[in-house]
Amino acid sequence: MCGIFGYLNYLVPATRREILEILIQGLKRLEYRGYDSAGVAFEGSECDDETCVIRMVKQKGKVAVLQEEIQNTNNMNFDKTYNIHIGIAHTRWATHGEPSALNSHPQRSDPDNEFVVVHNGIITNYKDIKSFLQSKGFEFESETDTEVIVKLVKHLYDIHKDKNISFRECVEMAIQQLEGAFAMALMSKKFPGECVATRRGSPLLLGVKSKTRLTIDHIPVLYSKDHRGYIAPHPREDSTTEFHPIGPRKEVEYFFASDASAVIEHTNQVIFLEDDDVAIIKDGGLSIYRVKRNIDDSTVREVIAILSWHT
Ligand code: GLU
Repeated sequence: MCGIFGYLNYLVPATRREILEILIQGLKRLEYRGYDSAGVAFEGSECDDETCVIRMVKQKGKVAVLQEEIQNTNNMNFDKTYNIHIGIAHTRWATHGEPSALNSHPQRSDPDNEFVVVHNGIITNYKDIKSFLQSKGFEFESETDTEVIVKLVKHLYDIHKDKNISFRECVEMAIQQLEGAFAMALMSKKFPGECVATRRGSPLLLGVKSKTRLTIDHIPVLYSKDHRGYIAPHPREDSTTEFHPIGPRKEVEYFFASDASAVIEHTNQVIFLEDDDVAIIKDGGLSIYRVKRNIDDSTVREVIAILSWHT
Protein backbone atom coordinates (compact mmCIF):
# COMPACT_ATOMS: atom_id res chain seq x y z
CA MET A 1 0.00 0.00 0.00
CA CYS A 2 1.13 3.51 -0.61
CA GLY A 3 -0.32 6.91 0.04
CA ILE A 4 -2.03 9.98 -1.33
CA PHE A 5 -2.14 13.33 0.38
CA GLY A 6 -3.59 16.55 -1.01
CA TYR A 7 -4.07 20.05 0.37
CA LEU A 8 -6.28 22.80 -1.02
CA ASN A 9 -6.44 26.20 0.70
CA TYR A 10 -9.24 28.52 -0.35
CA LEU A 11 -8.97 32.14 0.85
CA VAL A 12 -6.63 30.93 3.60
CA PRO A 13 -3.32 32.57 2.72
CA ALA A 14 -0.32 30.26 2.94
CA THR A 15 3.25 30.60 1.77
CA ARG A 16 4.72 28.02 -0.56
CA ARG A 17 6.95 26.95 2.33
CA GLU A 18 3.90 26.31 4.55
CA ILE A 19 2.06 24.46 1.78
CA LEU A 20 5.01 22.20 1.03
CA GLU A 21 5.50 21.54 4.75
CA ILE A 22 1.86 20.44 5.03
CA LEU A 23 2.25 18.14 2.01
CA ILE A 24 5.51 16.60 3.27
CA GLN A 25 4.09 16.16 6.77
CA GLY A 26 1.04 14.43 5.24
CA LEU A 27 3.34 12.01 3.39
CA LYS A 28 5.34 11.35 6.57
CA ARG A 29 2.11 10.32 8.33
CA LEU A 30 1.53 7.78 5.54
CA GLU A 31 5.06 6.37 5.53
CA TYR A 32 4.11 3.42 7.73
CA ARG A 33 2.07 2.04 4.81
CA GLY A 34 5.28 1.27 2.90
CA TYR A 35 6.64 2.89 -0.29
CA ASP A 36 9.72 3.18 -2.50
CA SER A 37 9.49 6.73 -3.88
CA ALA A 38 7.68 10.00 -3.32
CA GLY A 39 6.60 13.11 -5.18
CA VAL A 40 4.59 16.34 -5.09
CA ALA A 41 2.85 18.63 -7.57
CA PHE A 42 1.94 22.19 -6.71
CA GLU A 43 0.85 25.34 -8.44
CA GLY A 44 3.72 27.55 -9.45
CA SER A 45 1.99 30.87 -10.00
CA GLU A 46 -1.13 32.72 -8.94
CA CYS A 47 -2.93 30.60 -11.49
CA ASP A 48 -4.93 33.24 -13.28
CA ASP A 49 -5.50 31.69 -16.66
CA GLU A 50 -2.44 31.41 -18.84
CA THR A 51 -0.02 32.10 -16.04
CA CYS A 52 -0.96 28.88 -14.25
CA VAL A 53 1.95 26.48 -14.03
CA ILE A 54 2.13 23.14 -12.28
CA ARG A 55 5.51 22.17 -10.84
CA MET A 56 6.54 18.69 -9.80
CA VAL A 57 9.34 17.30 -7.67
CA LYS A 58 9.73 13.50 -7.61
CA GLN A 59 12.34 11.26 -6.09
CA LYS A 60 13.18 7.63 -5.50
CA GLY A 61 13.62 6.84 -1.80
CA LYS A 62 12.39 8.33 1.43
CA VAL A 63 10.13 11.34 1.97
CA ALA A 64 13.08 13.01 3.72
CA VAL A 65 15.04 12.75 0.43
CA LEU A 66 12.13 14.40 -1.42
CA GLN A 67 12.07 17.14 1.22
CA GLU A 68 15.77 17.80 0.66
CA GLU A 69 15.28 17.81 -3.11
CA ILE A 70 12.52 20.42 -2.75
CA GLN A 71 14.78 22.59 -0.60
CA ASN A 72 17.49 22.40 -3.25
CA THR A 73 15.19 23.17 -6.19
CA ASN A 74 16.18 26.25 -8.13
CA ASN A 75 13.83 29.19 -8.81
CA MET A 76 11.66 28.36 -5.85
CA ASN A 77 10.27 31.38 -4.03
CA PHE A 78 9.33 29.79 -0.72
CA ASP A 79 7.93 33.07 0.65
CA LYS A 80 5.37 33.59 -2.08
CA THR A 81 1.87 33.63 -0.58
CA TYR A 82 -1.11 31.94 -2.19
CA ASN A 83 -4.72 32.75 -1.23
CA ILE A 84 -5.98 29.81 -3.24
CA HIS A 85 -3.72 26.89 -3.99
CA ILE A 86 -3.71 23.15 -4.63
CA GLY A 87 -0.95 20.65 -3.99
CA ILE A 88 -1.02 16.87 -4.30
CA ALA A 89 1.53 14.38 -2.99
CA HIS A 90 2.23 10.66 -3.20
CA THR A 91 4.23 7.80 -1.79
CA ARG A 92 4.57 5.04 -4.39
CA TRP A 93 4.85 1.32 -4.01
CA ALA A 94 5.85 0.34 -7.52
CA THR A 95 3.70 -2.24 -9.28
CA HIS A 96 4.48 -1.29 -12.90
CA GLY A 97 7.95 0.03 -13.56
CA GLU A 98 10.95 0.12 -11.24
CA PRO A 99 11.24 2.70 -8.48
CA SER A 100 12.71 5.80 -10.17
CA ALA A 101 12.06 9.53 -10.36
CA LEU A 102 10.40 9.15 -13.77
CA ASN A 103 8.06 6.39 -12.60
CA SER A 104 7.20 8.24 -9.38
CA HIS A 105 3.96 10.12 -9.11
CA PRO A 106 2.58 12.61 -9.95
CA GLN A 107 2.34 11.37 -13.52
CA ARG A 108 1.53 13.95 -16.18
CA SER A 109 -0.46 14.27 -19.41
CA ASP A 110 2.26 16.05 -21.40
CA PRO A 111 5.50 18.00 -20.98
CA ASP A 112 3.51 21.14 -20.04
CA ASN A 113 1.95 19.36 -17.03
CA GLU A 114 -1.55 20.28 -18.22
CA PHE A 115 -3.06 17.53 -16.07
CA VAL A 116 -1.28 15.65 -13.28
CA VAL A 117 -2.41 12.70 -11.15
CA VAL A 118 -1.39 10.80 -8.04
CA HIS A 119 -2.73 7.25 -7.97
CA ASN A 120 -2.85 4.31 -5.57
CA GLY A 121 -3.72 0.94 -7.05
CA ILE A 122 -3.43 -0.89 -10.36
CA ILE A 123 -5.12 -0.23 -13.70
CA THR A 124 -5.48 -3.73 -15.12
CA ASN A 125 -6.48 -2.69 -18.66
CA TYR A 126 -3.72 -0.08 -19.02
CA LYS A 127 -2.14 -1.81 -22.04
CA ASP A 128 -5.30 -1.43 -24.15
CA ILE A 129 -5.72 2.20 -23.13
CA LYS A 130 -2.04 2.90 -23.78
CA SER A 131 -2.27 1.45 -27.33
CA PHE A 132 -5.37 3.54 -27.98
CA LEU A 133 -3.70 6.73 -26.75
CA GLN A 134 -0.50 5.99 -28.68
CA SER A 135 -2.65 5.70 -31.81
CA LYS A 136 -3.83 9.25 -31.03
CA GLY A 137 -0.25 10.50 -30.86
CA PHE A 138 0.42 10.40 -27.12
CA GLU A 139 4.01 9.65 -26.14
CA PHE A 140 4.54 7.83 -22.87
CA GLU A 141 7.52 8.60 -20.66
CA SER A 142 7.09 6.21 -17.71
CA GLU A 143 6.58 2.47 -17.36
CA THR A 144 3.63 2.94 -15.02
CA ASP A 145 0.03 1.90 -15.52
CA THR A 146 -0.90 5.26 -13.94
CA GLU A 147 0.25 7.37 -16.87
CA VAL A 148 -2.71 6.16 -18.98
CA ILE A 149 -5.14 7.78 -16.52
CA VAL A 150 -3.87 11.29 -16.90
CA LYS A 151 -3.29 11.04 -20.65
CA LEU A 152 -6.83 9.71 -21.09
CA VAL A 153 -8.20 12.66 -19.11
CA LYS A 154 -6.27 15.06 -21.37
CA HIS A 155 -7.47 13.24 -24.48
CA LEU A 156 -11.10 13.54 -23.32
CA TYR A 157 -10.57 17.20 -22.48
CA ASP A 158 -9.01 17.91 -25.89
CA ILE A 159 -11.85 16.32 -27.85
CA HIS A 160 -14.64 17.89 -25.75
CA LYS A 161 -13.19 21.29 -24.81
CA ASP A 162 -15.26 23.13 -27.42
CA LYS A 163 -18.34 22.01 -25.51
CA ASN A 164 -16.98 23.54 -22.31
CA ILE A 165 -16.50 20.20 -20.65
CA SER A 166 -15.72 20.46 -16.96
CA PHE A 167 -12.72 18.92 -15.20
CA ARG A 168 -15.05 16.66 -13.23
CA GLU A 169 -16.76 15.42 -16.41
CA CYS A 170 -13.39 14.57 -18.01
CA VAL A 171 -12.42 12.48 -14.99
CA GLU A 172 -15.88 10.89 -14.81
CA MET A 173 -15.61 9.81 -18.45
CA ALA A 174 -12.07 8.52 -17.96
CA ILE A 175 -12.85 6.31 -14.96
CA GLN A 176 -15.63 4.62 -16.91
CA GLN A 177 -12.87 3.24 -19.15
CA LEU A 178 -10.65 2.06 -16.28
CA GLU A 179 -10.56 -1.46 -14.87
CA GLY A 180 -8.78 -2.36 -11.65
CA ALA A 181 -8.37 -0.46 -8.41
CA PHE A 182 -7.66 3.18 -7.82
CA ALA A 183 -7.71 6.10 -5.48
CA MET A 184 -6.56 9.25 -7.19
CA ALA A 185 -6.38 13.02 -7.04
CA LEU A 186 -5.89 15.25 -10.08
CA MET A 187 -5.13 18.88 -10.73
CA SER A 188 -4.89 20.81 -14.00
CA LYS A 189 -3.52 24.10 -15.24
CA LYS A 190 -6.63 24.25 -17.42
CA PHE A 191 -8.75 24.36 -14.25
CA PRO A 192 -6.84 26.47 -11.70
CA GLY A 193 -8.11 26.18 -8.14
CA GLU A 194 -9.97 22.92 -8.84
CA CYS A 195 -9.14 19.46 -7.61
CA VAL A 196 -10.88 16.20 -8.52
CA ALA A 197 -10.60 13.04 -6.42
CA THR A 198 -12.11 9.64 -7.00
CA ARG A 199 -11.70 6.01 -5.94
CA ARG A 200 -12.64 2.41 -6.67
CA GLY A 201 -11.37 -0.37 -4.45
CA SER A 202 -8.68 1.77 -2.73
CA PRO A 203 -9.52 4.06 0.19
CA LEU A 204 -9.72 7.87 -0.03
CA LEU A 205 -11.14 10.40 2.38
CA LEU A 206 -11.52 14.15 2.53
CA GLY A 207 -10.93 16.31 5.58
CA VAL A 208 -12.59 19.75 5.83
CA LYS A 209 -11.38 22.60 8.03
CA SER A 210 -13.21 25.90 8.37
CA LYS A 211 -13.54 28.65 10.97
CA THR A 212 -17.32 28.77 10.71
CA ARG A 213 -19.99 26.13 10.64
CA LEU A 214 -20.49 24.20 7.41
CA THR A 215 -23.68 24.55 5.38
CA ILE A 216 -24.67 20.94 5.86
CA ASP A 217 -23.53 17.91 7.85
CA HIS A 218 -23.91 15.61 4.92
CA ILE A 219 -23.41 16.01 1.18
CA PRO A 220 -26.14 14.94 -1.20
CA VAL A 221 -24.69 12.87 -4.02
CA LEU A 222 -25.35 14.25 -7.49
CA TYR A 223 -26.00 11.88 -10.36
CA SER A 224 -25.25 12.36 -14.01
CA LYS A 225 -27.87 9.69 -14.81
CA ASP A 226 -30.73 8.24 -12.76
CA HIS A 227 -31.37 4.50 -12.33
CA ARG A 228 -33.36 4.44 -15.59
CA GLY A 229 -30.37 5.85 -17.42
CA TYR A 230 -31.86 9.33 -17.94
CA ILE A 231 -29.49 12.25 -17.84
CA ALA A 232 -30.21 14.30 -14.75
CA PRO A 233 -30.53 18.09 -15.14
CA HIS A 234 -27.57 20.09 -13.91
CA PRO A 235 -27.99 21.01 -10.26
CA ARG A 236 -28.71 24.62 -9.43
CA GLU A 237 -25.60 26.55 -8.50
CA ASP A 238 -27.22 27.85 -5.30
CA SER A 239 -28.62 24.53 -4.15
CA THR A 240 -27.46 22.88 -0.93
CA THR A 241 -25.75 20.19 -2.93
CA GLU A 242 -22.54 22.08 -2.47
CA PHE A 243 -20.70 21.97 0.78
CA HIS A 244 -18.95 25.10 2.02
CA PRO A 245 -18.70 27.22 5.19
CA ILE A 246 -21.88 29.07 6.11
CA GLY A 247 -22.09 32.89 6.16
CA PRO A 248 -19.85 35.53 4.58
CA ARG A 249 -16.58 33.88 5.62
CA LYS A 250 -15.84 31.41 2.90
CA GLU A 251 -12.32 30.46 3.96
CA VAL A 252 -11.87 26.73 3.92
CA GLU A 253 -9.15 24.11 3.68
CA TYR A 254 -9.51 20.60 2.28
CA PHE A 255 -7.22 17.62 2.82
CA PHE A 256 -7.28 14.42 0.77
CA ALA A 257 -5.73 11.29 2.18
CA SER A 258 -5.54 7.55 1.92
CA ASP A 259 -6.20 7.31 5.62
CA ALA A 260 -7.31 9.47 8.50
CA SER A 261 -3.93 9.46 10.27
CA ALA A 262 -2.72 12.10 7.80
CA VAL A 263 -5.59 14.56 8.33
CA ILE A 264 -6.35 14.27 12.03
CA GLU A 265 -3.80 16.92 13.01
CA HIS A 266 -5.65 19.43 10.77
CA THR A 267 -9.32 18.58 11.26
CA ASN A 268 -11.60 15.92 12.69
CA GLN A 269 -14.34 16.46 10.08
CA VAL A 270 -14.01 13.88 7.34
CA ILE A 271 -15.99 12.43 4.47
CA PHE A 272 -15.22 8.91 3.28
CA LEU A 273 -15.63 8.57 -0.47
CA GLU A 274 -17.33 5.44 -1.77
CA ASP A 275 -16.43 3.44 -4.86
CA ASP A 276 -16.94 5.49 -8.04
CA ASP A 277 -17.66 8.76 -6.20
CA VAL A 278 -16.12 11.72 -8.02
CA ALA A 279 -15.45 14.64 -5.67
CA ILE A 280 -14.79 18.09 -7.11
CA ILE A 281 -13.61 21.12 -5.19
CA LYS A 282 -14.19 24.32 -7.06
CA ASP A 283 -14.43 27.92 -5.78
CA GLY A 284 -14.03 26.55 -2.27
CA GLY A 285 -17.13 24.33 -2.49
CA LEU A 286 -17.18 20.55 -2.49
CA SER A 287 -19.61 18.44 -4.54
CA ILE A 288 -19.76 14.68 -4.94
CA TYR A 289 -21.00 13.12 -8.16
CA ARG A 290 -21.69 9.64 -9.40
CA VAL A 291 -22.19 8.69 -13.01
CA LYS A 292 -25.23 6.55 -12.44
CA ARG A 293 -27.79 6.14 -9.69
CA ASN A 294 -28.67 2.63 -8.59
CA ILE A 295 -31.97 2.31 -6.83
CA ASP A 296 -30.50 1.17 -3.49
CA ASP A 297 -27.58 3.62 -3.41
CA SER A 298 -27.16 5.88 -0.38
CA THR A 299 -27.81 9.40 -1.66
CA VAL A 300 -25.68 11.25 0.90
CA ARG A 301 -22.15 11.16 2.26
CA GLU A 302 -22.06 12.02 5.96
CA VAL A 303 -19.51 14.39 7.42
CA ILE A 304 -18.09 12.28 10.21
CA ALA A 305 -16.32 13.62 13.31
CA ILE A 306 -13.36 11.35 13.94
CA LEU A 307 -11.59 11.16 17.27
CA SER A 308 -7.93 12.03 17.60
CA TRP A 309 -5.77 9.37 19.18
CA HIS A 310 -3.01 11.94 19.76
CA THR A 311 -4.92 13.61 22.62
N1 GLU B 1 0.43 1.10 -10.05
C1 GLU B 1 0.98 2.38 -9.83
C2 GLU B 1 2.47 2.41 -10.13
O1 GLU B 1 3.12 1.41 -10.21
C3 GLU B 1 0.68 2.92 -8.44
C4 GLU B 1 1.36 2.09 -7.38
C5 GLU B 1 0.96 2.56 -6.01
O2 GLU B 1 -0.20 2.29 -5.59
O3 GLU B 1 1.81 3.22 -5.36
O4 GLU B 1 3.01 3.45 -10.31
